[in-house]
Amino acid sequence: MLSTMQDDQLSLAQLLRHGARMHGGTEVATWTGTGSRRTTFDQAARRAAQLAHALRELGVTGDQRVGTFMWNNAEHLECYLAVPAMGAVLHTLNIRLFPEQLTYVANHAEDHVVVVDGSLLPLFAKQLPEMRTVRHVIVANGDAAALEAPAGVTVHSYEELLAGRPETFDWPEIDERSAAAMCYTSGTTGEPKGVVYSHRSIWLHSMQSCMTDTMRLTDADKALVIVPMFHVLSWGMPYAAFMTGTSMVLPDRFLQPGPIAEILAAEKPTFAGAVPTIWQGLLQHLDANPQDISHLREVVVGGSAAPPAMMHAFEERYNVSVVHAWGMTETSPLGSVARPPSSAKGEEAWRYRYTQGRFPAAVKARLVDDDGNEVPWDGESVGELEVKGPWIAGSYYKADDSDKFHDGWLRTGDVGKITPDGYLTLTDRAKDVIKSGGEWISSVDLENAVMAHPAVAEAAVIGVPDEKWDERPLVAVVVREGEQVTAEELREFLADKVAKWQLPENWTFVAEVPKTSVGKFDKKRLRAAHAEGKLD
Ligand code: ADP
Repeated sequence: MLSTMQDDQLSLAQLLRHGARMHGGTEVATWTGTGSRRTTFDQAARRAAQLAHALRELGVTGDQRVGTFMWNNAEHLECYLAVPAMGAVLHTLNIRLFPEQLTYVANHAEDHVVVVDGSLLPLFAKQLPEMRTVRHVIVANGDAAALEAPAGVTVHSYEELLAGRPETFDWPEIDERSAAAMCYTSGTTGEPKGVVYSHRSIWLHSMQSCMTDTMRLTDADKALVIVPMFHVLSWGMPYAAFMTGTSMVLPDRFLQPGPIAEILAAEKPTFAGAVPTIWQGLLQHLDANPQDISHLREVVVGGSAAPPAMMHAFEERYNVSVVHAWGMTETSPLGSVARPPSSAKGEEAWRYRYTQGRFPAAVKARLVDDDGNEVPWDGESVGELEVKGPWIAGSYYKADDSDKFHDGWLRTGDVGKITPDGYLTLTDRAKDVIKSGGEWISSVDLENAVMAHPAVAEAAVIGVPDEKWDERPLVAVVVREGEQVTAEELREFLADKVAKWQLPENWTFVAEVPKTSVGKFDKKRLRAAHAEGKLD
């Protein structure tokens, strides 16, 4: 028997209308380097309507892809609102992709229009001639005349294009399963793959983001959105904010620790989200230039494992709670969040917080061994994590990647264990696990242990070939400014923290650990540097 409920569709047009009406006065601040320029949800929605009119005129009449090549700023937010609401598909281009990957994804998605930030024009101009389907480029925050367009491409100024257009738009009714936005994985493991989010998946994901067991966003919050808007829709924060009236601070291109500290001082956000390397950098900066950041009720850290030492440093030295979360481009990205059960206190609560967290109600999870059999949630058995749910990818755009899926479940490529009460601990990515003498060493555990040393700013561990043991860990260490430490001292420091046979004998001191386009340790490049003899 079918229900008697209305089959009303979840659409981003409704989310736009809701935010503009219920939370019209909520502010969006974009950092300019010296202060913030401000807009409101109501103004953003009006300008989104103007943008939609302009895009219709440029031939965006159906599900054409509208690319963005932008920092986190008000104009990017307007694209987030206008493009899906008008029935087109927002394609956020990762500005840090290698040139050939960038043209690959623009061509693969068949972007018709690209909105580009003025400060990124020199970078974009080099790739534009290779982007075969782009017909219009819209330059925001910059001089459109500075871009020389190839034949067949018209360049527009964002502001001139919007000026004088109606501030309302007759947003169409859209099937909630239609594409709303797409994002390519950063390609750390091969050709970037397109993940296409639906109106429904974004809507449900936004609701989950606001929930108390997740990000707890409310209209009392001001969220500093550091996660790039070109990376997994900045963890869905802009849409979640429109749902609950959370004010936003967008850092534009000012992402170094110094500017982030200035933004914190000026805007006093209550919430922020970013990958661990950003927080690690900020911590070093704050330790050298102390500043009160206790206005942050909490920060969410995900994208790679949060080092426990860093979580303690923020909590104990700065009175800021760090919440650890796991996710992927394919999971929108919210997969699990480490909020301890309310009954857990003290040390026990911390042990829960170190994990990658628990899954929300809509996300099903299982661990699978090499033969594809499920392994139990006993807190010990290790397997590859597979997930399923309404905001989890079921395939990639125009690609046959059947090996990435298993009976309708997404194979995450992450290896870990789950406790009987559902807390996930990832030991590694399948390809980063170090296989030493038939046993597995977790590179993440070693990194966390080394990063707990007060003289260490960053540590990345890779497996390197070894005649006797097949592989042994190599630790690349970045020493904190003004500190000194030797490999021998670090080995001694680890002696009571890791099993003896796991103690690394290979150490290298580097100025910086190479990072991926989204700021994670780039172990592929580390491995390549080692293979070329550049890491000894
Ligand atoms: P890419 O695969 O290109 O790095 P994603 O941003 O989608 O792009 O990365 C998702 C991956 O990041 C996950 O599969 C996992 O390996 C890693 N990851 C994300 N969050 C965490 C976390 N909290 N702890 C450990 N690894 C994480």
